[in-house]
Amino acid sequence: MTDKAKEAYSALMARSKEMFVIGSAGGILHWDMETKMPPAAQAMRGEQLSALELIVHKKLTDPENDALLMICEGDIDPFDQIERRNLHLLRKSYDESSKIPDKLVTETALHQSKCNMVWKKAKAAKDFGMFRDDLGKMIELRKQAADILMDVKGTRTPYDALLDQFEPNMTAERIDEVFKEMREGLIKLMDKVLSSDTKPDLSVLERKVPVDVQRRVSSDAMAFIGYDTTSPEAGGRLDETEHPFTTGSFDDVRITTHYYEDRFFSSLFSVMHEGGHALYDQGIPREWMYQPVGTPCSYGIHESQSRFVENIVGRSPEFLNYALPRFRKFSPRSFKGLKNKDIIAAANAVNPSKIRVEADEVTYALHVIVRFEIEKDIFAGKVSVDELPQLWNQKYSDYLGVKIENDAEGVLQDTHWSGGAFGYFPSYALGNIYSGMFLDKMQKDVPQWRKGVRGGDFAPVLQWLRTNVHSKGDLYDPADLIKAVTGKEITVAPFLKYLERKMSKIYGF
Ligand code: ZN
Repeated sequence: MTDKAKEAYSALMARSKEMFVIGSAGGILHWDMETKMPPAAQAMRGEQLSALELIVHKKLTDPENDALLMICEGDIDPFDQIERRNLHLLRKSYDESSKIPDKLVTETALHQSKCNMVWKKAKAAKDFGMFRDDLGKMIELRKQAADILMDVKGTRTPYDALLDQFEPNMTAERIDEVFKEMREGLIKLMDKVLSSDTKPDLSVLERKVPVDVQRRVSSDAMAFIGYDTTSPEAGGRLDETEHPFTTGSFDDVRITTHYYEDRFFSSLFSVMHEGGHALYDQGIPREWMYQPVGTPCSYGIHESQSRFVENIVGRSPEFLNYALPRFRKFSPRSFKGLKNKDIIAAANAVNPSKIRVEADEVTYALHVIVRFEIEKDIFAGKVSVDELPQLWNQKYSDYLGVKIENDAEGVLQDTHWSGGAFGYFPSYALGNIYSGMFLDKMQKDVPQWRKGVRGGDFAPVLQWLRTNVHSKGDLYDPADLIKAVTGKEITVAPFLKYLERKMSKIYGF
C-alpha cells in the first residue's frame, strides 16, 4: 500500500479512537444518571450529555473524514479484510450522519423529549388521543430521515433504511418471511400448550424471597456465567434500576437489575439476560479496541446473546436443577415445600398476556411481530395514526387471543415509538431466531454442554459463544455472521424445535 493510503488510514483510526473515547465517557454519564445521580443534577447532566454529543457529531461529520476515506478507497487493494471492514463502517457512518441536515437532527432531538413526556402522561391517562398528534409528528420526522437514508444506504424502502440502523442490511421483506413462519409456528405451539391438561402452578413465582437473598442469588448467577464483579481484575459491576440495562465495552461493562420481594425470578433472569449482553461486550477482541470493527454486530445479535444466557441456559432444567439447591441454602423458607420440577415448570410457563415485557418465551415474539407489522404499514403509508389502537387490539386478539381493554395496556405500552425508534422492535425477535440457530450449531460442536451446566460448568458454553460470536465483533453484517457460524441462511426452524422440545417435556405432549 502506498504511504499516503497508510497514513490516511492511521489518521482515520486515530479519529475513530477519539470518537469512541468521548462516546464512552457519555455512556458513563448516562449510567450515572440512571443509577447514582441526585435529582437536582438533571438539568446540568442534560447540558453535559448534549455537549459531548455535539463534539462527537462534529467529529463524525468532519469533511476531512471524507477526504481521508477517499484516499484509502482509491488505493484499496493492499488493505486486509479487517482494515476494509473498518473503512466500510466509517464510510457508512460518515455518509449517513453528514447527509441528514442539522435542522432535522435538532428538531428530532427536541421532539423526542417532548414526545416522551406526552407519552408518559397519555399512558397514565390510558388515552391514545392525548398522544396522537405528537406521535404523528414523530412519524413525519422519521419519514424525512428515512427518505434521505434510503438514498444513502441504497435500500428499497424508507422502512428498510430504518431497520438498517439496528440490523444492517436486513430488509422488511426478509423479516416478513421469517416472522410469518415464526408466527404460525408459535401460535401452533401456544395452542398445544394451552390445550394440555398440565397447568403449572404460577403462584410459585410469587413466593416471597427477601431482597438480601436475591442479591446473593444474583452474585451466584454472575459467578456461574463468569461475569466478574468482585476480583481485583473485575471489569463489571451490578447496580439497581427500575428497568435493567447493560452499558459499556471491553474493561468496563456494567449491568443493572431490580428486586421485588414477590418476583424472585424477575431479578434472577434480568441478571442472566443483562449478563449475556455484558459477556458479549467484554468478549470483543482487544486488538480491535477503538476501531469500528471492535463493536457488536447488531442489535439482533446482541439480543441473541442475552436470550441465550437468560432463556436457553437460565431457564433450562439443567441450570435450575443445579442452582435451586444452592438458592434453597440461602433461604430455606422461601422455597419450602416446593419441588424443583414445579419451579422449573413455573419458570417456563406459557401464559399469553397483553404486555410484551412480561411475556414468556413462546409468546414473546408474537408481541414483536404485532409491532413489526404495524411499523411496516405506517412507513408504507397503509395505515393512519388514528387507526393504530384498533389495529393493535385486533392483532392481539388474532395472534395472542387476548382482549385489550385500554390504550395503556395496548398501543401505549412501550416507550420506543415516543423516541422515534422505529425499526428497533424486530431485533428482539431476530435475537430469538439467531439464538436458536446458535444453539443448533453449539449442540453439534459441544454435545455435552447440558451435562456441564447441570454440574455448574458454564465455561464450554461461554467458550463457544466467545469463539463463534463475540470474537467476530463487527466484522460481518448479521446475516453474514449467521452464515459464517452456522453455514445457513436465517431460519426460524431451530428456535421452534428448541421450544417444542422444552415445552413438550413440561406440558406432556
Ligand atoms: Zn436485551
